[in-house]
Amino acid sequence: MGLTDTQYNTIMRDYQRQQTRNQRSLAARTEEVYQRIPELSRLDADIASASTACARRLLSDEPASVAELRAQIAGLSAQKKELLCKAGYPEDYLLPRYRCADCQDTGYIGSERCHCFRQAAIDLLYTQSNLREIVEKENFSTFSLDYYSEQFTDPLTGATARQTAAYALGECRRFVRDFDRKFENIFLYGNTGLGKTFLAHCVAKELLETAHSVVYFSALRLFRLFARVEFGKQRDYGQPDLEEHIFDCDLLIIDDLGTELVNLFVCSQLFDLLNERILHRKSTLISTNLSLELFADTYKERIFSRVSSHYLMLRMVGEDIRVKKKFD
Ligand SMILES: [Zn+2]
Repeated sequence: MGLTDTQYNTIMRDYQRQQTRNQRSLAARTEEVYQRIPELSRLDADIASASTACARRLLSDEPASVAELRAQIAGLSAQKKELLCKAGYPEDYLLPRYRCADCQDTGYIGSERCHCFRQAAIDLLYTQSNLREIVEKENFSTFSLDYYSEQFTDPLTGATARQTAAYALGECRRFVRDFDRKFENIFLYGNTGLGKTFLAHCVAKELLETAHSVVYFSALRLFRLFARVEFGKQRDYGQPDLEEHIFDCDLLIIDDLGTELVNLFVCSQLFDLLNERILHRKSTLISTNLSLELFADTYKERIFSRVSSHYLMLRMVGEDIRVKKKFD
């Protein structure tokens, strides 16, 4: 996994903090409900003593009376639910709430690391924890087609900016839906300010929420990291594993390809990365402001041919919507 002890401890401390937060918030909810419905606190006390009695009898091997006690507990729990619902609370209001239900915020399922641990490592290694804040704002539920003009027509296809965006949006939704069944990649291209990064965030949010590992990089930062790792290797003090997740995460997003300084090093790293991910059937989403012609010119034939044959090419057209958003 390529984590140092310090990094591992940082992640585990975060899990412990989350567990404390969960306990506190459950205690606060319980306190609130007990005040409003005092009978519930009595029911809980009855459930607790019946559970203890049940455990004792199990130890002393009295199965018949255990069944009776279990029925009693079930009855008390049903009463509790009914009281809660009557007072307008959701049924699960007094159950613990986890950030990750799969491991109950422990980071482990049995002795195996949970998928959320893997993502926590990615977030820490690539300092991308702000991605979570961004995707809270930029996701499919906040993506609006209203910003795309119905007057602007794409000279190439005759479709309006809105129709083109609607198509890209639909394809991104489908990409997410089919993610576990179908190996696909996305290449989003078009001028600046057309919502390409926003769409990438929409995809990231859906996949993060369905327990996939997502690594997000601007091209600039990605190649800076590669150069650092390469330099570190030469000097023999690098962290060779730092690249691991970039090669094997479920979805890699390379945003703003073409803004980095393109040289032979960048071209060969990019080719290796895209090629490896295709070979291992790991999806990649690339966004770029370059036109296809410029992309082919900049990254040469072998990269262009990998992309054009393995990526869904989605074009965005129109005027800069960020300007529109500001004046709305
Ligand atoms: Zn988990």
